Amino acid sequence: MVNGSIKLFRLFGIDVFLHWSWFLVAVFLIPRFGSGQFYGPGNTPMLWSTLLYLSLFAIVLVHEFGHALACRSVGGQARHIVLWPLGGVAFVQPPQRPGAVLWSIVAGPLVNVMLVPVTVIAYYLVRGSFELPAAGSNPHMFAFSLMLMNAGLLVFNMLPIYPLDGGQTLMALLWFVVGRVKALKVASMIGLVVAGAAVLLGVISGDIWMLVLALFVGMQAFNGFRTAMVLARMDPRYYDDRHAKRAAEDEVENRIHDQIDPWRR
Ligand SMILES: [Zn+2]
Repeated sequence: MVNGSIKLFRLFGIDVFLHWSWFLVAVFLIPRFGSGQFYGPGNTPMLWSTLLYLSLFAIVLVHEFGHALACRSVGGQARHIVLWPLGGVAFVQPPQRPGAVLWSIVAGPLVNVMLVPVTVIAYYLVRGSFELPAAGSNPHMFAFSLMLMNAGLLVFNMLPIYPLDGGQTLMALLWFVVGRVKALKVASMIGLVVAGAAVLLGVISGDIWMLVLALFVGMQAFNGFRTAMVLARMDPRYYDDRHAKRAAEDEVENRIHDQIDPWRR
């Protein structure tokens, strides 16, 4: 146990942890997760729901490994991956160059891009056609949901809202043009504005899930903005100094966050 997380296993020298709250949310969500999708006697629907829920986290985990291994391929460090109810976090430290950071970020969504044909072919193979699953056909429904979940994760995660991968990609691209501080300021400001609007919408509609997600995005975007301010305050004379530069880099936490939203309701 480290910080409330259980170590699951170690792969490619990267420890994978599961946060305790994952179980809490899983127990709450699994019965609702596949409701109305899976049919059958006794525990059959529950078993399919559980399998789908676990598959969702398997996709998230492979995505996180995409970040971690890409980061390492450009000379950065990948320490560990934590799975928690909102998805996964890859704790990585890419070299502080825009290209290296960009590659470490986009490699995650690229995994989902590669999974698109895999899940589409799997869906086709279950039935031998692309017809929509009928009620009662659990394997067909499972393959269908998995295909949609992967695509949904990809689309949601690439929205240009910091700290989603799309927002971090925007930040890394802007870094090439306007430098790191401005890039982080712009990207995190967009994250803050969208999170603020989503909080309002969550309150008005009474959508707890949206509220939780919006608050999380808002907090992370605020942290991003604060980091940009810390970097901006650094005296450039000292920043040239190797040690001060190192300290500034340590100040910046390179965490790549992922949330899984659209298919959790
Ligand atoms: Zn990601």
